[in-house]
Amino acid sequence: MGDTVVVVNGQRYESYPMTPTIPIGVVNDFEAILRSAELRCRPRLAMLESAGGAVGFHIGGLVALGERDLIDLGQRVMSHFAWRRTPAHHVPLLRFGNPNLVTTDEVMQQVVRIVLAHEVGHSWAIQSGNHKAGIAGERVADQFAGMIAQALGWRSDLDALTLAHMGCVGPSCSHPSPSTRVADYEHARRFIAPYLRAA
Ligand SMILES: [Zn+2]
Repeated sequence: MGDTVVVVNGQRYESYPMTPTIPIGVVNDFEAILRSAELRCRPRLAMLESAGGAVGFHIGGLVALGERDLIDLGQRVMSHFAWRRTPAHHVPLLRFGNPNLVTTDEVMQQVVRIVLAHEVGHSWAIQSGNHKAGIAGERVADQFAGMIAQALGWRSDLDALTLAHMGCVGPSCSHPSPSTRVADYEHARRFIAPYLRAA
């Protein structure tokens, strides 16, 4: 039996089982994001079996990622690539119309990174006085993710695909639309990133 994270969400207590271990790349990426953001207070990181379909969330200084949600998101991102095997035993992916090969591991790592950066963005917003409620707050977190991505030199094509798949397309939304998420991320990469120290 693993540990459980209990969070207070409005009036409700929600309980999430944690995964026994956090994959090592996630810890390294989390540390790189924190270094780049220079936060006064470190958020804690928890890897959950599932974040209730939300991929990840930030609440009370806790950044939580849902493993099953991340794998599901990664698979949706990978559906944009055509498969091609190489002699090197791993299975790279060939992007449609672009000779740009990436491995499934690279796609998964980038999906996790951008979700992490978004969730840390909520911490940063609170600590830097940029916190906003609702969708406006989600947009701030996406802009923060763009700043981090630029500072750390992440692949913008994978980030944008991931954010597009995290965008809301339903009738009632708690998160911005796919196009708004990508536009905020790209705008921050271009115009805000130079002010953030490279890690
Ligand atoms: Zn968010």
